[in-house]
Amino acid sequence: MKPSQRPRKRARGARAQRGEAERSAGGRVLLGRAPLERESGERRRAPLDRFREECGVMGIAGHPEAANLAYLGLYALQHRGQESAGIVSRDGGENHIHKGMGLVAEIFSQPVLATLPGRTAIGHVRYSTAGESSLRNAQPFLANTGRSQIAVAHNGNLTNALAIRAELEGHGSIFQGSMDSEVFVHLFARARGTLEERLGDMCSRVRGAWSALFLIDDVLVAARDPHGFRPLSLGRLGPAWVVASETCAFDLIGAVYERDVEPGEIVMIRRGRLRSVQPLPRAPEKLCVFEHIYFARPDSLVFGSSVYQTRKQLGRELAREAPVRADMVVPVLDSGSVSALGYAEASGIAYENALIRNHYVRRTFIEPEQSIRMFGVRVKHNPIRELVTGKSLVVVEDSIVRGTTLNKLVTLFRGAGAREVHIRVSAPPTTGPCYYGIDTPKRADLIAANHSVEEIRRMIGADSLAYLSLEALQRIEAQMKHGFCDACFSGDYVIPVDEVGVAEPQLPLFESDPGDEPEAS
Ligand code: SF4
Repeated sequence: MKPSQRPRKRARGARAQRGEAERSAGGRVLLGRAPLERESGERRRAPLDRFREECGVMGIAGHPEAANLAYLGLYALQHRGQESAGIVSRDGGENHIHKGMGLVAEIFSQPVLATLPGRTAIGHVRYSTAGESSLRNAQPFLANTGRSQIAVAHNGNLTNALAIRAELEGHGSIFQGSMDSEVFVHLFARARGTLEERLGDMCSRVRGAWSALFLIDDVLVAARDPHGFRPLSLGRLGPAWVVASETCAFDLIGAVYERDVEPGEIVMIRRGRLRSVQPLPRAPEKLCVFEHIYFARPDSLVFGSSVYQTRKQLGRELAREAPVRADMVVPVLDSGSVSALGYAEASGIAYENALIRNHYVRRTFIEPEQSIRMFGVRVKHNPIRELVTGKSLVVVEDSIVRGTTLNKLVTLFRGAGAREVHIRVSAPPTTGPCYYGIDTPKRADLIAANHSVEEIRRMIGADSLAYLSLEALQRIEAQMKHGFCDACFSGDYVIPVDEVGVAEPQLPLFESDPGDEPEAS
């Protein structure tokens, strides 16, 4: 980077960190006022008591309202990332981009979508990993490689990104930000040959978990790593093609699910024609089972199976393995609700939504000066006293990560008069972090990695505690007729942890000057 460029880029980065949206037309980056709520584009995160999905992607090829449909798709995928969102569209040989911090509905308005013309578009929602959330890491990432313009929207975690970056910088590449997605751009820029050869070259260099959309000149490209960790589905909307992390995005726009992009497959869509190649060597399928347990929406098909039906099956198996005499089955909403239905169905115990969740809680709220006991959990959850007083409850949750929330929920139930509180978890104990694109606490902070089931029961204050067994989970995986990753339960990490090369499992993989802003050129 030339020294004279620095002040300009620093100013742009500073504006971006204040929370302004980034827009461009014809490849020039412009900055506009952002519809944002934050003073700062960066913030530190509270300790996780959940595994968090990082991203969702949506692509459309061959539709006159491509950006509008990408926006709707991202709206349906909002649960996969709430920190930032962006869309790149392609029209008349030019790319157009808009990105911002916040929710999809806050970032995109009708006038903003009008600045994103064209028949092809890709979009991205992001939940940032590891503490920092800023516009410079929002996607899609857009760059000019000299021969091509390339936009990248990526879900997952490249486990060898640091090594590739060091190698490429040794050969003179200049990285603009801290996203591992930028590795794709530099690898593509250096590759030679046809588009297919360049894509094959790029994809064969990266390792880890990644499902990605690329907009390379006029071609929409969808690709998935050879293990297939993260989902990516392909659908049709009339003559147009659509690609999304989950099929709930198709349902909203009236598209029809055709099939998944296969692990290791690269799909190229140009002028309505789809071409598929499989340049990467076959690898054992390792689809993320946590998508079915918790991340994905229950109305989605993920890896070709209904998330709703899988969750119900998890609950039924849990009831068979860990029965208890109780008056009612109570879900921890929302993710535990379908497993709780399965538990109730198999056990014959009545299902009651006796724990109400407030869906409108923002990340920060103003507490009264005289602090209220357990305000943080109370503001989100409230048991129905009239239902639970004097009753024995089976509370069904999908996972226990740190145990802090569940401990508070048990206390809330007891405070509301519950006679007994039995906790049932519709997944095995979470004993390891994820290195494949999910934001997780360190192993030291995972309660099940460091304590027995009986110790955890005492810590959360429940009358009994039981998890679904790993064997039962793996029986359900087998029924879905695919190979699954369940490493955070089983410790069976298919890509060795050493290869990841980081003590903390997740991004940011690269630390860079916060003033350096990725930009189109
Ligand atoms: Fe999914 Fe767990 Fe495997 Fe990560 S380690 S990909 S969360 S199953």
